[in-house]
Amino acid sequence: MYNIIDGKRIATIIKREIAEEVEKNISCGMKKPHLVTILVGNDGASETYVSHKIKACKAVGFSSSIIRFSDKVTENELIIKIKEINKDKDIDGLIVQLPLAKHISEENIIETIEPSKDVDGFHPINMGRMTIGLPAYVSATPQGIVELLRRYKIKTSGKHCVVIGRSNIVGRPVSILLSQKNDYGNATVTLCHSRTKNLKEITKKADILIAAIGQKEFVTEDMVKKDAVVIDVGIHRVKSKKTKSGWKLKGDVKFDEVAPKCKYITPVPGGVGPMTIVSLLTNTLKSATNKFD
Ligand code: NDP
Repeated sequence: MYNIIDGKRIATIIKREIAEEVEKNISCGMKKPHLVTILVGNDGASETYVSHKIKACKAVGFSSSIIRFSDKVTENELIIKIKEINKDKDIDGLIVQLPLAKHISEENIIETIEPSKDVDGFHPINMGRMTIGLPAYVSATPQGIVELLRRYKIKTSGKHCVVIGRSNIVGRPVSILLSQKNDYGNATVTLCHSRTKNLKEITKKADILIAAIGQKEFVTEDMVKKDAVVIDVGIHRVKSKKTKSGWKLKGDVKFDEVAPKCKYITPVPGGVGPMTIVSLLTNTLKSATNKFD
């Protein structure tokens, strides 16, 4: 029988822990942590993600604000605003919701954010520090995945971990974290991507399989070893006649056929997703209190 890794439950626990720390800090005279989100344009998915972040901030007692720009904003106008926020002592964390309009370079925007306020952990300084094991803001989804393994006491040391996907926001950083020389690292990591040959032979050897491919139900039962731990990062909206909204979420893993083979598996929704926002809150609290593990 497989065990579900319940990201929603863990996220609720962590939010409670954060809220308690904020309350304690405020009672000691500290200010509320403040997260600012820059939102460019009116993309529906971005609006939804940002509204979830704002709601989560409120739930744990943070201040939050959204700075909106039309999709006609120039890169320079955005850079000027970011530099202003960098200097604002009241603001602890800044995120720029991606993707941006095509005429704006995401690299230039990310590199303008002051690394000490880069709670998304996308700045090359944070990525570099994380890579060599120095205190850093770790990007939210990889941090959330490691936290799920930690909270479920799933050992990574000496395990073969296979990550499918090498994006800078998920696959690559999680592969680095799991290979670090520390308690929730020490894994032997194989990083796969679209040019990987014999993918199935590799994934079948995984004690821990992390799917961050961006293709619906890509991982099938024949790709997974018996008693593996499977972490599904994918999010795909599909039409459904069974739900009120008319759609439901699927992952990168074919859950129904893969789950019975696993020891542990994350569902979609309710697995990795809720942990991503929580990691952002954790990073903002770190920035406000200057406390790194
Ligand atoms: P990207 O599209 O940036 O990266 C996908 C990766 O998968 C690439 O490295 C690509 O290889 C690899 N890939 C694609 N096809 C194959 C294949 N056939 N075989 C092997 N590898 C393949 O995606 P992201 O990392 O941004 O996101 C991955 C998924 O996770 C998406 O569904 C996204 O929506 C979801 N997501 C969920 C989050 C959450 O909070 N739960 C947060 C972020 C993302 P190559 O590099 O060679 O192109």
